[in-house]
Amino acid sequence: MAAALSIESVKSQAKGLAYRNQAFIGGKFVDAASGKTFDCTSPIDGKVLTQVAAGDKEDVDRAVKAARAAFEDGRWSRQAPAKRKQVLLRWADLLEKHAAELALLETLDMGKPIGDSARIDIPAVVNCIRWNAEAVDKIYDEVAPTGDDAVAMLVREPMGVIAAVVPWNFPLLMAAWKMGPALATGNSMIIKPAEQSPLTMIRAAELAAEAGIPDGVLNVVPGFGETAGQALGRHMDVDCIAFTGSGEVGKLFMKYSGESNMKRVTLECGGKTPNIIMADAPDLDAAATAAAWGIFFNQGEVCNAGSRLLVEDKVKDQVVEKVMQVAKTLRVGDPLDPATQMGAMVDDTQMNRVLSYIEKGQSEGAKMKMGGKRILGETGGYYIEPTVFDGVKNDMTIAQEEIFGPVLSTITFGDADEAIKIGNDTIYGLAAAVWTSDIKKAHRAAKSLRAGSVWVNCFDAGDMTTPFGGYKQSGFGRDKSLHAMEKYTELKTIWIDLS
Ligand code: NAD
Repeated sequence: MAAALSIESVKSQAKGLAYRNQAFIGGKFVDAASGKTFDCTSPIDGKVLTQVAAGDKEDVDRAVKAARAAFEDGRWSRQAPAKRKQVLLRWADLLEKHAAELALLETLDMGKPIGDSARIDIPAVVNCIRWNAEAVDKIYDEVAPTGDDAVAMLVREPMGVIAAVVPWNFPLLMAAWKMGPALATGNSMIIKPAEQSPLTMIRAAELAAEAGIPDGVLNVVPGFGETAGQALGRHMDVDCIAFTGSGEVGKLFMKYSGESNMKRVTLECGGKTPNIIMADAPDLDAAATAAAWGIFFNQGEVCNAGSRLLVEDKVKDQVVEKVMQVAKTLRVGDPLDPATQMGAMVDDTQMNRVLSYIEKGQSEGAKMKMGGKRILGETGGYYIEPTVFDGVKNDMTIAQEEIFGPVLSTITFGDADEAIKIGNDTIYGLAAAVWTSDIKKAHRAAKSLRAGSVWVNCFDAGDMTTPFGGYKQSGFGRDKSLHAMEKYTELKTIWIDLS
């Protein structure tokens, strides 16, 4: 859609855009109880787009009350799944109808290329809501194999009030991964979008109301992590926190839960994905091209970005050369230009964080082969060149810590065993990839790599049918697929005596 547009037409659409900037509680747009707002800044040029309600404890309280009331009176939780399906399908249709507006909001708010927002993010959001809606009236409960003197039913029930606290890299999509299964199974929700990127979620909630999701079932409280986020984490009447974000904040949510009502917590945290290219990969050029996209897509702000490129020593030069060739052709620049392939970093803090990792890489002795600098500073926006390091050792900071930017660390290995050892030598375990023509090697690597997803001869593959989530400090709990519904439902045993 966006590819057919010119930058001028995208920019003129952007000028006409209205921003919803309040909290959405109990079916109404409201200001924060304190009256406070915060600047919503576009990373494209550093200019303020609008002022957004800065939700805090009192707003969270109001939203939880609205969500609890809706849950208790059954206006959504006790609807037949087929009825919830109809409403969610209407919502998906409305999201699709407003896809161009939502894509533009996403790009203005967080700096990803408009082509990606329009062709990847928003269609994936629509698909996620539709997929969960379609699934929910096709799931059966179980009857246990007891003797004839009893019937024991194992039933899944909605958990209650679910709060989702989400990051800024795929703002609406990360929320959709939680909303799809949680709403389909009958829960009420409060979403706390990241302070860097609240706009699409606020607008999506308005469309949810238009679709017929009853008041109080889907609430949005924009605001900061330490205020609104923490208030949700510590609330005594929130049953479950579904979090996507950094490991550091993920650990805080476990603490909040322990210090409050032992609410369920599921965490999707960061990653340091090893992308392992063996010399016998079916097509080294294809593997190297995928490696470049695997790190530079979405400016590298991807939790499963292939940030560690592990290459067998004898083909390392060839692979790195090809990665750089691809990187040099990438169009970095104005995210509103449909031809742009890499946009702006989400804010100046993130940009500076990435630049300091680049410095650290050099000071620890890694060899910077290309990139490494801020560019387009004259625009006022936050752009970084695609950056490739060679000669990285796995114990260097840039190989161990999540950079969340367009920075690739190349590490060499001698054989498959060494590759697996290096691949697993990280606190993370979100994803891994292996490229080889040898089926035995591929299978062994897939089994040995401690990660929630392992891709063989591809990178970042998957769809709504496959679970996504981490091992180790990448978190626990899975988004996507029917397994995601397990996070938002309790399993009840009903034993009926027939003796
Ligand atoms: P972040 O952890 O700083 O923030 C995530 C969310 O938590 C935001 O809504 C923020 O407001 C909130 N938050 C921040 N501090 C808080 C606090 N003290 N108490 C309660 N809430 C708080 O992460 P980010 O910088 O927005 O996102 C980047 C991180 O997210 C990366 O580490 C990335 O790997 C991770 N991520 C993971 C996945 C996944 O599926 N595993 C997907 C996307 C992003």
